[in-house]
Amino acid sequence: MLNKDHPRYESLVYREKIVEAHKKGILADSGMIAHGRGETFDYLIGEKTTANSYNTIEVASCYFLTCKHPVLSVNGNTTALVAEEVAELSKLLDIPVEINLYYRTPERIANIEKVYSNLGVTELLGTDEDDFIDTPDLNGPRSPVSIEGISKSDVIFIPLEDGDRAEKLAKLGKNIVNVDLNPLSRTAQTSTVTIVDNIVRVMPLLIESVNKLMDYDKNDLKERINNFSNEDNLSTAIHDIIKRFE
Ligand code: ATP
Ligand code: MG
Repeated sequence: MLNKDHPRYESLVYREKIVEAHKKGILADSGMIAHGRGETFDYLIGEKTTANSYNTIEVASCYFLTCKHPVLSVNGNTTALVAEEVAELSKLLDIPVEINLYYRTPERIANIEKVYSNLGVTELLGTDEDDFIDTPDLNGPRSPVSIEGISKSDVIFIPLEDGDRAEKLAKLGKNIVNVDLNPLSRTAQTSTVTIVDNIVRVMPLLIESVNKLMDYDKNDLKERINNFSNEDNLSTAIHDIIKRFE
């Protein structure tokens, strides 16, 4: 049992979720290490959503609300931590969830599929019944992508994604919305919109902001997008970390 008075209680709760997901065959071994890397950067940003990230979350919502075919692409870590919120966002926007795993095995696909179908997600892509094409120039198990999902999409949400795939998707001309605590990762650097924050804090805020912006004029949302620079966003995120050392 975790002690609620522990100063790192919340962080321990999420560690437990990660361990649980690993035991259930949802998370690969390396997913546990990726979580640890995320924790380190969360410590550096102060374990809170910055003003800059609040703004970036709203810009991400603007993309979801103005693009024709958004897709939520999920892996084991995202599923371990925020499957409920992913399902909620998918229903709210009426868009598919695509399973995309770095270490793709039929067992892990089936386990993750079960999580989302139990949460009522009906449009589930990237399962073994789906039709696949390869991401150009990307070899290995994470190359196959769902035809329905990624190739038709005009904006892809890829939280906690690996840099290789993000780079290739960017080359395909896709808009990429990413959540990554490390503002220096290749994924963060190649995405269209990088939310530098913990996925567990981002998802509820993203849902809230989609609800808020849903009735806004689409031209205003597009203007928000046009005024956004991911380079400036990442630079602010890095400076926010530097300030914590002063
Ligand atoms: P890249 O391949 O993009 O250069 P990487 O190899 O460091 O970066 P991976 O291990 O492939 O990245 O992917 C995990 C990424 O997810 C890391 O950058 C890590 O900081 C981030 N991450 C882990 N847990 C979380 C979390 N809870 N919220 C947000 N980001 C997270
Ligand atoms: Mg990587």
